[in-house]
Amino acid sequence: MLLTLDHLTVQLPGAARPLLDEVSLRVAPGEVVGLVGESGSGKSTTAKAALGLLPGGATASGSVRAGDADVLALTGEDLRRHRARTVAMVHQDPRAALNPVRRIGDFLRERGADRARAVELLAAVGLSDPERRLRQRPHELSGGMLQRVVIAGALAVEPRLLLADEATSALDVTTQAEILALLRTLRAEQGAGMLFITHDLHLAAAYCDRVYVMYAGRVVEERTAEALFADPAHPYTRGLLSCSPTLGDTSHTLLPIPGRPPSLSDVFTGCPFAARCPDAEPECDTWRPTAAELPDGGTAACRRIPTAVTTAAASAERSTP
Ligand code: SF4
Repeated sequence: MLLTLDHLTVQLPGAARPLLDEVSLRVAPGEVVGLVGESGSGKSTTAKAALGLLPGGATASGSVRAGDADVLALTGEDLRRHRARTVAMVHQDPRAALNPVRRIGDFLRERGADRARAVELLAAVGLSDPERRLRQRPHELSGGMLQRVVIAGALAVEPRLLLADEATSALDVTTQAEILALLRTLRAEQGAGMLFITHDLHLAAAYCDRVYVMYAGRVVEERTAEALFADPAHPYTRGLLSCSPTLGDTSHTLLPIPGRPPSLSDVFTGCPFAARCPDAEPECDTWRPTAAELPDGGTAACRRIPTAVTTAAASAERSTP
């Protein structure tokens, strides 16, 4: 397994609840794994944990393993090598990753690419005239071109795991589609795994092999992308799908999830989604979420799931001749 998070809990000093609460997740070689949820759900913290990067003052329990390495125990040169060679991250804003006064060629050279390799990488990410691009500075390129440069920089180190944090959210749809296709092709060619972070559940369902849905620092559902989209099990996942627009489908009425996403000062006596959940019952206020296994091998953390699964299994049995 490329990346394994096992019951990772991250607590910030002064926060009423953990930033991450018992998060378990895995990414296999060649797999594209989605991480979805609203802002503040813990997606980016989860991805940064794979780099051994926790917020200042945070304490952690559980484990983060990348291959054989215990990431949270890495220090010094071992940690630097892990961040430079094993895992690469592509953020939403490419300008934040590039020094405005340095040339594109310098950026790629700092990542170990000699001139020939830098030209090859820029061509591979679809930039025309790569020789000229090497001499240009960030302000001379558009946002889409810069994101291609950042991806070329990530690929220069030939990482085993690529972390894409809202990497295409700021791009127009055409550029977004091109960058996504490019990431998939290059990932397949290099055999790397990818953790794809997005707030867009439709995009994750279309692009990923498996998806984790996060809410209030917890994983509330984990399914194959196909199953998640066809038959979401957790009320929060259904809520995300109902409020996310689908291109070309004007018949679909958008239904926002009521209330607001929880902050770090919110404490829960039971299911964290209870205050916003259309299926909530009084018992949900004291039920400690635990993941239930679904018939397709996925999991969801809702106390009503065992009933739903039993009912579905029974009706399937009844309909079998
Ligand atoms: S446990 Fe209750 S409140 Fe939580 S998601 Fe399930 S039905 Fe909703």
